[in-house]
Amino acid sequence: MTGKIYFIGAGPGDPELLTLKGRRLIGEADLVIYADSLVHPGIRAFARPDAEIVGSASLTLEEVWARMETACAAGQTVARVHSGDPSLYGALHEQLVRCEAAGIPYEIVPGVSSAFAAAAVLGAELTVPGIAQTVIFTRRPSRTDRPANEDLRALASHGATLVLFLSVAAMSAVVADLRAGGYPPETPVAVVYRATWEDQVVLRGTLADIAARVRAARFTKQALVLVGPALDPALRQHAADRRSHLYSADFSHLYRQVRRQEDSGGE
Ligand code: SAH
Repeated sequence: MTGKIYFIGAGPGDPELLTLKGRRLIGEADLVIYADSLVHPGIRAFARPDAEIVGSASLTLEEVWARMETACAAGQTVARVHSGDPSLYGALHEQLVRCEAAGIPYEIVPGVSSAFAAAAVLGAELTVPGIAQTVIFTRRPSRTDRPANEDLRALASHGATLVLFLSVAAMSAVVADLRAGGYPPETPVAVVYRATWEDQVVLRGTLADIAARVRAARFTKQALVLVGPALDPALRQHAADRRSHLYSADFSHLYRQVRRQEDSGGE
């Protein structure tokens, strides 16, 4: 009898941001393996008292895989708990390849990515109408992982909202690339360190000053960098101005009706 592996997104930190399904499956698992650098230890409380709980931070992928394979061979259920959502920078693909090669059934349970937790912390919509309708998830160039056509400068040329994972340690280089790619120096940037954890810190600035702020705060990991005009706190004031104009008595009832029809296309 073969067991099964559930790849579960734990969310960004706050254990309440784990999905109900993720929580139930952690509670049913014989073996819980979690990324203990970025998954909140509070999720341990959801496991069965007799479950084996293993932190993966100090293990290699091979070691994690060996534990999971052994458990499955014994017919056990494994909860492999990833930070945020498993589909982003979670080494998920290589684990799925191994599952398929070994004939081990699996299921993926999505989670709240730190990208969305950071947006919530910032009180920001990443896709503000008329400002940015595209979000790019990326990371600073790393020697091995990045296809040649994903140069940060080229991505910057879209002027979209950019969410950079695993990049805060190289902030000066990131800023230089984004500037070279076309974002003006006054482009708003926010850095969110350990979003939704007890020690969360938010830095705000622009491309002109964010590198110095990050250096002063000594953030080298566990932070997200969000870039683009949608992150501008002043947008609220602009929107209020635009709105008062839009809803002023000069605008016809018909115009508002058309707008409403257009808007109902979204959620
Ligand atoms: N799958 C995860 C990302 C894993 S890669 C997700 O969807 O969020 C690890 C990187 O994610 C970190 O280096 C950091 O850039 C970011 N990250 C993960 N959790 C974070 C958090 N709570 N706050 C800020 N950044 C976080």
